[in-house]
Amino acid sequence: MTTSFVEQDLQAVFLQTVCRQTLKNKVLLLEAGPKDWTWKIHMPAALIYNLCDNKYNWYYETEEQEFMDNRRIYQPRGRVWGGSSSLNAMVYIRGHAYDYDRWEKEGAEGWSYADCLPYFRKSQTHELGPDDYRGGDGHLNVSRGKSDNPLYQAFIDAGLKLAIPSQKT
Ligand SMILES: Cc1cc2nc3c(=O)[nH]c(=O)nc-3n(C[C@H](O)[C@H](O)[C@H](O)COP(=O)(O)OP(=O)(O)OC[C@H]3O[C@@H](n4cnc5c(N)ncnc54)[C@H](O)[C@@H]3O)c2cc1C
Repeated sequence: MTTSFVEQDLQAVFLQTVCRQTLKNKVLLLEAGPKDWTWKIHMPAALIYNLCDNKYNWYYETEEQEFMDNRRIYQPRGRVWGGSSSLNAMVYIRGHAYDYDRWEKEGAEGWSYADCLPYFRKSQTHELGPDDYRGGDGHLNVSRGKSDNPLYQAFIDAGLKLAIPSQKT
């Protein structure tokens, strides 16, 4: 199967990178929903259109939330080629190291953050160049947010005060 990066889930890119480079296997993607051939998906700023109807969206709602006045909370998920990544906002988010390490402790052998980190690096080209955490020649081009709103750093500082360590991505 040959698709461009924007048509694939980030997870699928990650999986393909792992498979191509270590297992030499092919990956078959099975997905419900229509083809993704629309400007509403190809133009990232059009994301909001897909959040307002169910054409490319499962349009889920949560159960009633006891601590939110029993409201049901809207949960968009992609129902289209590319899944939710076809609806996403192009923010690069790497899972927190604690989560990977917990998964391994719970039995997912080989999925600790240290195990996954080489593949995160292989997948990434970071604008600040490669280092121990960031990649320099992968498929995902990552740049830092251009906004310098002081609230962002205040948010990170608040986490540090609560002993939540910051993590490079
Ligand atoms: C609106 C929105 C914005 C987001 N923005 C970002 C962002 O900026 N950065 C970021 O990193 N992440 C973002 N995310 C999250 C990211 O898109 C998801 O975490 C990621 O796509 C999950 O990948 P997945 O392969 O696990 O699931 P999905 O991409 O949801 O893929 C699951 C696929 O399975 C299909 N499927 C489900 N049930 C069936 C069935 N019974 N039979 C056949 N197919 C089925 C679905 O239709 C879908 O195509 C966003 C998500 C949403 C919804």
